[in-house]
Amino acid sequence: MKPFDVQVRGSGIVGSAAALALSRLGLSVALSPPAAAAAPRGEDVRCYALNAASVALLESLKVWAALPADARTPVYDMRIEGDAGAASALHFSAWQQQVRELAWIVDAAALEAELASALRYAPHVVPGVEPASAALVVVAEGKASATRDQFGVTFERHDYGQRAIAARLRASEPHQGLARQWFRSPDVLALLPIDRPQPGHGLALVWSLPAECADALLALGDADFEAALMQATAGAAGELRLASARAAWPLALARAERVCGPGWVLIGDAAHLVHPLAGQGLNLGLADVATLARVIEGREPWRGLGDARLLERYARERDLPTQAMLGLTDGLLQLFSHPAPWAKELRNRGLTLVNAATPIKRWLTGRALGL
Ligand SMILES: Cc1cc2nc3c(=O)[nH]c(=O)nc-3n(C[C@H](O)[C@H](O)[C@H](O)COP(=O)(O)OP(=O)(O)OC[C@H]3O[C@@H](n4cnc5c(N)ncnc54)[C@H](O)[C@@H]3O)c2cc1C
Repeated sequence: MKPFDVQVRGSGIVGSAAALALSRLGLSVALSPPAAAAAPRGEDVRCYALNAASVALLESLKVWAALPADARTPVYDMRIEGDAGAASALHFSAWQQQVRELAWIVDAAALEAELASALRYAPHVVPGVEPASAALVVVAEGKASATRDQFGVTFERHDYGQRAIAARLRASEPHQGLARQWFRSPDVLALLPIDRPQPGHGLALVWSLPAECADALLALGDADFEAALMQATAGAAGELRLASARAAWPLALARAERVCGPGWVLIGDAAHLVHPLAGQGLNLGLADVATLARVIEGREPWRGLGDARLLERYARERDLPTQAMLGLTDGLLQLFSHPAPWAKELRNRGLTLVNAATPIKRWLTGRALGL
């Protein structure tokens, strides 16, 4: 088989986006076949909160505009509550921050389908092949990457002992583009507006809890689960009904000790894993893709694609933003999961103070938007 410029291993959202972005530079890209061990999955019930930088990348790949209208919903307002309830709520609005929307909530299955369809028409991408050689191997195999292990890269993992339950809901009240989040001890619960399955009334649930609490909730029948949800949200979003199966993911924090070497790079969850409480894992992975494509496009004409110095530029650019996001999500989780009264007081005062400080809110919004 003829050598390819690039081999992308792993065809999740990050690997697919990388294959498209690199093929747009005129490079020939082989996209590896699905892992032999990959268990057949049902449709992903998750939604992703995507920031402006991720949306811009998907727009440039001609994937964003192709998404069905009900598969992407803008977030105009965001409300975060601590244990003190409404008294300490932090409120962000697109209007106040002078942006069109704070984020977009995107249906995971629809995004995967649009990326797969774009790949079918991408002129330089050959899907489902394992080439004999490629100048650059881009590893996008997710958190359990076998290729990363073959390269001898340590992926130190800190398990939170938590699981995130995801499901799609129908709410009696209209969502009005409002994302709600409750940060408490011991759970973090998010209700994100999404027009699928019901325009104006669909919500995506992400509920992170200690593993034993999550297992107990998963064991409940639908009606009991809905009752638990109503209790946890105090009816703030109206009456909530399940509109999908429930699925759960174990939660951990991890970072590869290095993300490149001669002829290879790590991107996405293969390089870093964060708690979903800030909805930033995929945003980090798509920022990896945008940076890698930019670094490769800007290389000197005599530099090969696998040149270690070239790939170091990618690693250097991604180092700080990745470290900052890992620190932020972990710090928030530690603060909000600490049961001590002083921690409760500190987080509730913190929310109230931030709510009153417009420049801090603007700064936080900018970070979350990827600006
Ligand atoms: C409940 C939950 C909610 C989340 N919400 C958000 C959110 O709102 N916003 C956000 O930005 N992020 C969110 N995330 C994080 C996001 O899901 C991940 O960061 C993102 O899916 C990572 O994508 P990836 O392509 O890097 O990895 P994966 O999605 O894991 O894809 C890796 C792919 O590689 C394949 N593969 C593995 N090994 C091999 C092999 N040897 N050969 C070939 N293929 C292989 C796998 O089968 C898979 O298809 C959330 C995560 C969870 C658990």
